[in-house]
Amino acid sequence: MSTLISSLSKIAHVASWSTFAVFGGLLPALRERAADQFPTLRSTHRSTPWAISFLVTARCMLKCQHCFYHYATSTPETELSLDEYRTLSRSLNKFTVGLFCGGEPYMRPDLGEIIILLRKNHGVPLAATTTNGHLTASVVDQTQAILNADRYKPFGIGFSLDGPQEVHDLIRGRGSFDRTVRTLREVKRLQRHNPHLSITVTTVVNSINQHVVAEFEQWVARELSPTSQCVLLVRQNPRAGESLKKVDLTLYQQAQQAALQAMRASPQGRFRPDALYLEAVARHVTETRLSGSRSFHCWAGINGALIDATGNVHVCEVLPEQPGIGQIGALRDYNLNFDALWNSPRADEMRALVNTHPVCADCTHETMGHATSLPFPPTWLWPFKASPKSKPHHIKSAPEGVIPVERLRRPDGPRPTFPG
Ligand code: SF4
Repeated sequence: MSTLISSLSKIAHVASWSTFAVFGGLLPALRERAADQFPTLRSTHRSTPWAISFLVTARCMLKCQHCFYHYATSTPETELSLDEYRTLSRSLNKFTVGLFCGGEPYMRPDLGEIIILLRKNHGVPLAATTTNGHLTASVVDQTQAILNADRYKPFGIGFSLDGPQEVHDLIRGRGSFDRTVRTLREVKRLQRHNPHLSITVTTVVNSINQHVVAEFEQWVARELSPTSQCVLLVRQNPRAGESLKKVDLTLYQQAQQAALQAMRASPQGRFRPDALYLEAVARHVTETRLSGSRSFHCWAGINGALIDATGNVHVCEVLPEQPGIGQIGALRDYNLNFDALWNSPRADEMRALVNTHPVCADCTHETMGHATSLPFPPTWLWPFKASPKSKPHHIKSAPEGVIPVERLRRPDGPRPTFPG
């Protein structure tokens, strides 16, 4: 009987995910594409985006060398409170992907309540957190509470592990590896009674760990057997400086292949969507790095939004780092009405920069970039090719002082290769 219920809930989950994906992401993407050609088709009202990244806190007990969010600060007093999330929720429709990150999100004792609230009110069939695993009790207790609130809805938790003990601790601080692994093993116990809980081990490849990451991915599969493995490439402005970004792409690719092989050795084999997605991201990141030209059309600002700890809304994490760009706006200035802010003139100004600002030219942002973009345009299976007809959406020309992305492309750049 429980197997039947579990199967039915899986079918319901896939059906609800597909429905949200089509109505929440594919249709807006198609509408924007059509509006590029026929501007009169452009609607003036934009609904809740398909994917929302909530950076619930900027606080963290670690000082990781590759962290690109080190410039941000927040305190419990300045962060959006649970009550404010309740008010915010009134102006959101259903959405599909909810990423709850930080900082270290489990530093908030009310993280579980925020996630339970948003999953109850907005569906969010794909909800996930990331953690450095240092607060074992908070991670285990709050994850259990989230699962108890709806035990048939999938929930994901990603643990950051950047290499074997000495390498991980060099990047993240002494004793970090043991703490993370201990917490991960505790959370794995929850999987026995919660088959919809997925555990991911996420590794950021940088110049410190690049030589050991491929082997480490094999170790992770063998010793920790998480549900999935995720390999990211260091980006933006790492705390320890630009030297962290001197990564041999071959080593990055080898790490991706090791993670993919491990995932495909599982019972679901070749057809795991997470493995297909990881492979597509790796291909796009590699192509972008080798050619110096972004390989996908970005749908951040249409299909994706980022809400930071103090309630500022952004199209992604990368654009706000550019001088003078900042955020779309502060939710507190709009009475926590996301819909009003998302449809404000300032939001359209920020959307106009997506795909046109120089920083977009070689973007490899795996969250708001790839996650909101790769599933929708036909570039899912092959790299984005700029056609003379396909202008960046929303605007006929880039705002003054902004260089259109086409001018930054290097058409004669080397073609990338991908092993396997
Ligand atoms: S291309 Fe990258 S930097 Fe530009 S809007 Fe998209 S995610 Fe942000």
